[in-house]
Amino acid sequence: MTRLIITSNRLPVKIDKNDDEMYITPSAGGLATGLKSYHKANNSVWIGWPGIIPESEEEAEKVTALVKREQCLPVFLDEELISNYYDGFSNATLWPLFHYFTEFTEFSEEYWEAYRKVNERFAQTIIDNAKENDQVWVHDYQLLLVPQILRERRPDLTIGFFLHIPFPSYEIIRILPWREEIIEGLLGADLIGFHTYDYARHFISSVKRLLGHDVEFSQIKLDNRKVFVDVFPMGIDYKKFDQLASEIQSKPIQDRSPVHQDIDRFLMSMPNRKLILSIDRLDYTKGIPQRLKAFRHFLQKYPEYLEKVSLIMLTVPSRTDVEQYQNLKNEVDILVGSINGEFGRLNWNPVIYFYRSMPLENLIELYSSADVALLTPLRDGMNLVAKEYIASKVKQRGVLVLSEMAGAAKELGEAISVNPNNIADTADAIYHALTMDDEERTKAMRTMQKRIRRYDIHKWANEFMKSLTSTVDKQSDYH
Ligand code: UDP
Repeated sequence: MTRLIITSNRLPVKIDKNDDEMYITPSAGGLATGLKSYHKANNSVWIGWPGIIPESEEEAEKVTALVKREQCLPVFLDEELISNYYDGFSNATLWPLFHYFTEFTEFSEEYWEAYRKVNERFAQTIIDNAKENDQVWVHDYQLLLVPQILRERRPDLTIGFFLHIPFPSYEIIRILPWREEIIEGLLGADLIGFHTYDYARHFISSVKRLLGHDVEFSQIKLDNRKVFVDVFPMGIDYKKFDQLASEIQSKPIQDRSPVHQDIDRFLMSMPNRKLILSIDRLDYTKGIPQRLKAFRHFLQKYPEYLEKVSLIMLTVPSRTDVEQYQNLKNEVDILVGSINGEFGRLNWNPVIYFYRSMPLENLIELYSSADVALLTPLRDGMNLVAKEYIASKVKQRGVLVLSEMAGAAKELGEAISVNPNNIADTADAIYHALTMDDEERTKAMRTMQKRIRRYDIHKWANEFMKSLTSTVDKQSDYH
């Protein structure tokens, strides 16, 4: 019986150590949720990094035993590989380049060598554990070379790949010294999935221009087989957000969490007070300084909103060892300070800034209380926060202002769309969102909810797997 082998840089579980005792924490992330039913069925296995560097052979064995209970297998990485493969090639080369930040992109042979080595290690672990004709689903930009290695050594496997970040235009990818190797790495797959049609189109045009392969519709013709390219916009666990938001809203005020009570107090302390929300990792792709500048412009242009509206900005620490992220943190700290210093009153701050992560319950409280979500990435593969906000708006009382550079914008045409680099327009979009009439607001929200509910994370995984399975028949037609 065919089994599915899933592989991603990180496992859906994490191992930590507390005094010599090891323990395992499952991840509640979207990918783990979407693939749960496939992962649990038919002895499927998930291969990835367990989040810990074992200090001895014995510790490594313990980690292996712990993750095995969750149908996972570990790929171990040492400090040097993490530094060169993960912080290096993945996050200092591919991440900035694929998000169009060419000025941040580092080219280093050392990073590339480590990247190849780790991709080889992942592929070998898959090969050692794959039975004949198994299906393999490889995830994301850390593992772009895995499909080709598998294809060469195990042509019996059916190989799918999904890219969770944007695929940039040919003019960007051509900058990379290892561009052919990366594209050839991906072409080892039978099916390659992207979030949006644009990313798929960019990929196909890069394949044509860099490697000269023929392409017919979305099928790339190689000598002895075809590679299928398709679009699968990743969804969220809609039901979970919808249900939790309903429960949270129906709680009497005195039973609400401290965070929720603070939000209630803020909103009720003055008639017509409004809350704007943004949530993202502190990453240069997310357009956080531009968003703050737009909010400052809004306060200057529409002073009637002073004391009436605050921006709650939750930024989650991310890649804190990397210089660009530290610089960004300083820039954001300074901007928040200067806006609050300029406009703040004794009892009111225009920006309420958190630099930490929050539990899901608090996220949903923020989503369901916010009048406006202001999500303005400069580039974003998808932006799941936009979808989570929509799913949490059980009474449809919310407006989404969304960057046109987010993958999610393709599905959320009813949002107020902005170019995040246009500060004046974004300021006007905030005003538009705050003054939208009830009927228009409800209609837009309902339409988006209907769409996001239908194509949720389960549907996303099922559609990809259905397509992957059908490539086997299509390949045999080719001969
Ligand atoms: N998130 C979280 N804790 C927080 C804030 C956010 O777990 O304190 C989650 C959020 O619910 C969302 C994810 O982080 O599912 C962010 O995904 P998105 O696609 O928006 O951006 P990414 O971080 O993947 O670039």
